[in-house]
Amino acid sequence: MNEPFWETKTLREMSEEEWESLCDRCGRCCLHKIADIDSGEILFTNVVCDLFDLGEGRCTRYRIRQRLVPDCMDLKKEFPPLDWLPATCAYRLLAEGKHLPPWHPLISKQSDSVMEAGVSVRSFAIPEKQVEDIRNHVVETLR
Ligand code: SF4
Repeated sequence: MNEPFWETKTLREMSEEEWESLCDRCGRCCLHKIADIDSGEILFTNVVCDLFDLGEGRCTRYRIRQRLVPDCMDLKKEFPPLDWLPATCAYRLLAEGKHLPPWHPLISKQSDSVMEAGVSVRSFAIPEKQVEDIRNHVVETLR
């Protein structure tokens, strides 16, 4: 049986369609992060960008998001340091030479497996407009 493309191609070798299919729509890259000034460590919060629709689990302005949120990343154009992506992210996993997890939709063939695995931000995130001080929202287990 043929090996799946994510096992045989590098990220750079993937087609647009293959690249896009790697995103499991977890929304974790849409969580705000804080850089610790002393250690440089990237700390994830449970505060999600206001453009993210927690009901649907997607960015509501995906095509123009960088115009609206200038520091929003386009992974295909500017791959960030890996610690800026959650450890569950398919792009980070493959860049680190790891495998996709069983709950990834390309493996499970189920779009809701990300939610069932507790990986989707839909089950725990708070919209930024509801947050007063983001420093109170660092979540140690989100890396
Ligand atoms: S963290 Fe990775 S898999 Fe999750 S939404 Fe962002 S790009 Fe997609």
